[in-house]
Amino acid sequence: MIIKTVEFAGSFPSVKKCPDKALPEYAFIGRSNVGKSSLINMLCERKDLAKVSKQPGKTQMINYFTVNERWNLVDLPGYGFAKVSKKHRASFGKMIEGYLDRRKWLQCTFVLIDINVPPQRIDMDFLNWMGHMGIPFVLVFTKTDKLKKKGIDEALFKFRNEMLKVWAELPEEFVSSAVNKNGREEIFEFITDINEQFFEDLKANHYK
Ligand code: GDP
Repeated sequence: MIIKTVEFAGSFPSVKKCPDKALPEYAFIGRSNVGKSSLINMLCERKDLAKVSKQPGKTQMINYFTVNERWNLVDLPGYGFAKVSKKHRASFGKMIEGYLDRRKWLQCTFVLIDINVPPQRIDMDFLNWMGHMGIPFVLVFTKTDKLKKKGIDEALFKFRNEMLKVWAELPEEFVSSAVNKNGREEIFEFITDINEQFFEDLKANHYK
């Protein structure tokens, strides 16, 4: 994908306040330090784009970036500090859960996983919650430049095994690096396919 324009479209405190424009959107989420800002900057070919999400007061907001005036990239807060509720289910914050559950323009969520860290309970809990709610997601393994091919394969094998303890099917996955730009084309191909379908559907409904 050629990135012509990326515009910061605002920070919003809840799903109710998010822009009501018919654009397909894609959310990015993961534990703090997973490499989310670096990945967003790499995808958008901007050095400091996601810096805006790290400014005081914005880290706990839903941050919107409009790409090529055609789709929204949504930077969600990290869920690293989630508390476990009484029912032993991790809570990822009302705002995040509300957004993921109710946002009508949301096409897919990219859940970021640091490939250098063994499978974490908090990530598994989050994925299980997504599955329970029926919210579509794919996985993006980050910082893969730190490992050789064998190491990547071993880490992927471990992660998939962990998921298969709960899941019957594995989600689509992307192997990425903000350093060598791995995964960029694959992620954009995925987004482009969904966007095309989105606008076709929109047109069909519009002209009915
Ligand atoms: P965030 O908190 O999820 O937004 O994470 P950042 O993008 O700020 O990255 C956290 C740390 O991981 C920083 O020190 C980055 O330089 C480093 N990092 C992020 N992505 C990569 C990557 O693809 N490769 C390597 N080697 N380091 C990365």
